[in-house]
Amino acid sequence: MSALTRLVLATMPLVPTPIMRRLAGRYIAGERLEQAITALTDLAAEGFPGILDILGEGQGNEDHARAASAAYLAAARAVAQGDLDAYISVKPTHFGLLLGGELAFELYDGLARECAALGLDLRVEMEDHPTTDATLELFGRLRREHANIGLVLQSRLLRTPVDIEALLAGSPAAAGRLDVRMVKGIYLEPAEVAHVDPQSISDAFLDCCSSLWAGGARVTLATHDEVLATRLTQALSKGQLTTADYEFQVLLGVRRQLWQSWRAAGHPVRVYVPFGPEWRAYSQRRLQKNPQLIGHIMGNFLRR
Ligand SMILES: Cc1cc2nc3c(=O)[nH]c(=O)nc-3n(C[C@H](O)[C@H](O)[C@H](O)COP(=O)(O)OP(=O)(O)OC[C@H]3O[C@@H](n4cnc5c(N)ncnc54)[C@H](O)[C@@H]3O)c2cc1C
Repeated sequence: MSALTRLVLATMPLVPTPIMRRLAGRYIAGERLEQAITALTDLAAEGFPGILDILGEGQGNEDHARAASAAYLAAARAVAQGDLDAYISVKPTHFGLLLGGELAFELYDGLARECAALGLDLRVEMEDHPTTDATLELFGRLRREHANIGLVLQSRLLRTPVDIEALLAGSPAAAGRLDVRMVKGIYLEPAEVAHVDPQSISDAFLDCCSSLWAGGARVTLATHDEVLATRLTQALSKGQLTTADYEFQVLLGVRRQLWQSWRAAGHPVRVYVPFGPEWRAYSQRRLQKNPQLIGHIMGNFLRR
C-alpha cells in the first residue's frame, strides 16, 4: 500500500461528512429513496436500465436486518410505481446471514415474493469468502421457490468454477434459466482461496463466463475493465450469443464513457445505483478492506 493511500485511509474518518458527501456523490445516489429513484429515472431517460442497492452489510443484529428488509420492500414498490426497468440487489449479510441462514432466507423470501408480484427481479450478491458457502446454500433454497432470483459469482475465488458446475448441475427445471452476475470480486482475498494477480482474475472471469454460457445460463458482465470487455465481446460473437444471453453492468459514476461506447456498439448496459443512510460507514469499511479502490477513485478524479 502506498504512503498516499495509507494517509488517505488514516485521515478519512476525520473528513467532515459534507465533504465526504461531495466526494462520494458521484458514486452514491444519496441517502434517501427519492434520490435513488431520481437517479434511476435520469438514467432511464438516457436509455440505461438500473439496479437498486441499499448500502449496508451485516451488523450482527436482527433488528438491523429487519429494518433493511422493510427499506428494500419500500424501494421495490417505488421502482414499480415509477415503472422503471430496474431490479433489486441485496447483500446477504445485510439480511442477517451472519445470524444464521433462517433469518436471511425469511427476508429474501418475503422480498422475492413482493418483487415477483411487482414484476421485478431480485439478486443475491456475493460477499467475502467466509460467507460463500452460506450464500450458495441460501440461493439454492430461494431458487427452488422463486423464478425471479439471480446470483453473483466472483472470478477471483479459486472455487468458482466448481461452484458453477454444481449450480448448473443442480438447477431445478422449474426455476427457469440460471442468471449470474459475474464480477472480479471487490473483497481482497488470501492466496489460499483466490487468484491474486490481475491477469489470472481476468482469465478466470472469461473462463467462468464461457462455462456458464455453455451450460445455458444468462450472464451479466459487471466490469469496467476494457481489455477484459474486449475479450468478452469476442467470446460473445464467437459463441453467437445474443442480448438475451448477456448484458454489461456498471457502477454509478465509474467510467461513463465506456458505458456509452458499449451501448453505441449495440451491447445492453445496466447501471448499479447504490444509496442509503449508511453510505458513509459502509464506504469507509470497503475502502479500508480494499485500498485498491482509493487508487481507482483518485485515478478517475485525475482523469476528469
Ligand atoms: C454492477 C456491479 C455489481 C457488483 N457486485 C458485486 C458483488 O456482489 N460482489 C463483489 O464482490 N463485487 C461486486 N462488484 C465489484 C466487482 O467485483 C469489482 O470489484 C469492480 O467492478 C472492479 O473491477 P473491474 O472488473 O471493474 O476491474 P478493475 O480492473 O478493478 O477496474 C477497471 C477500472 O475501472 C475503474 N473502477 C473500477 N471499480 C471502481 C470503483 N469502485 N470506483 C472507481 N473506479 C473504479 C478504475 O478506473 C479501474 O482502473 C460489482 C461490480 C459491478 C459493476
